[in-house]
Amino acid sequence: MNRKLASLILEEPHIFRPPHHSLESHFIRLHMQALQESEKAGAAWREALQRRRLVHLLSSAQRIPFWRNRIGQEKSTRLESLPVVTKADMQAVAPEERATISTVRKHAIPTSTSGSTGEPLSFFIDRRLGARHVAHVARITGMHDFQRKSLVLIWPTHNPNPLFRGHFFTIRSAKEARMHYEHLCALISRPDTLVLGLPSSIHCVANVFTAEKIVARPQALLTSGEPLTSESRALFEEVFAVKPVQYYGSRELSVMAHECSHGRYHENSEDVIIEVVDAAGKECPAGAGGRILVTGLNSMISPFIRYEIGDHGVRHSDPCPCGSTYPSFSIVGRASAAAPIALRDGRTILPYQLTGVFNRRSAALRQYQIVHTALHIFRVRIIPTEHYTKRREAEMLAELNELAPGCAFSL
Ligand SMILES: [Zn+2]
Repeated sequence: MNRKLASLILEEPHIFRPPHHSLESHFIRLHMQALQESEKAGAAWREALQRRRLVHLLSSAQRIPFWRNRIGQEKSTRLESLPVVTKADMQAVAPEERATISTVRKHAIPTSTSGSTGEPLSFFIDRRLGARHVAHVARITGMHDFQRKSLVLIWPTHNPNPLFRGHFFTIRSAKEARMHYEHLCALISRPDTLVLGLPSSIHCVANVFTAEKIVARPQALLTSGEPLTSESRALFEEVFAVKPVQYYGSRELSVMAHECSHGRYHENSEDVIIEVVDAAGKECPAGAGGRILVTGLNSMISPFIRYEIGDHGVRHSDPCPCGSTYPSFSIVGRASAAAPIALRDGRTILPYQLTGVFNRRSAALRQYQIVHTALHIFRVRIIPTEHYTKRREAEMLAELNELAPGCAFSL
């Protein structure tokens, strides 16, 4: 592929979408080739690409009042001069008011964050970007002939995106893993499968496979959303016969970066800009820790510009020993960092299961905090609303005790 065509595909991913489902793998390949061309073109070429895409994003966002009020009418592309936008800023207005209305009806898929770290944020994703997302995932794995149907997604919360229907599994417990065991086994055993999900959800599946003495061999295994413990890493290598790779992703912005063999995360520069900033929103010097902000160059329907995603990182300025010329950073603290919690009977539980009890009752709770004070002891602090009742409290305690038998919860 020549560089001019690559540049066009990278800049206007919405245009390069399959007109028919049967052509999708062809378009995934097109996006993959464009990404490969960008890799060869070098850092300066990609910086210029980012600048052009940013101009386009800002002028599109300026048509949406929510964004115009924040970023103004300026043509400046200095990100640093724009304000930081938090999840709370966005939650204050309806998702339609943060979106390009004309495009919404035709191409938008309503979705939301999982709510694992607080109240879910609703927004729209662009149906036309399916092939691009899959191409990014494929690039991380180095797989060349890749189709969407090769994906198997394993997460703890439901994903309303219809693009993944039939390949998306919501798994929070050994029971749910067992329920889907046969279907998962059939899908993962195909030679071209890529498994993608949350380590603790995949852990549930791996445990069932171990009990059934099955070694499934997907071509690749990508994990995200929480730290990959050495225990999970070893289990996955044994059960799936492949080395897991961590990536930095979100519902809002898809694949943002991935971990290299030297433990650094490399920015997915064609589609996102990642900043590490101090309390004033100014870029941190290399080596200093700060808040991670993300700008989604593809997010034309629901823009995310200098969006504070809730994680902390450190920017590296020296070249990565792995040889990649993509900007690199380390994640030092994650809002979503959550290791599985051990129960008395030897099982583990995901923190999402506990937070779900409270997230489902947002009308009755203004805020809550779960403090894991000792191995099997939890203290829950709540700020109730006027809808809070003793009956609701008893229901919540009953659910918590059912989820984590033998643990003590004080409210
Ligand atoms: Zn590297």
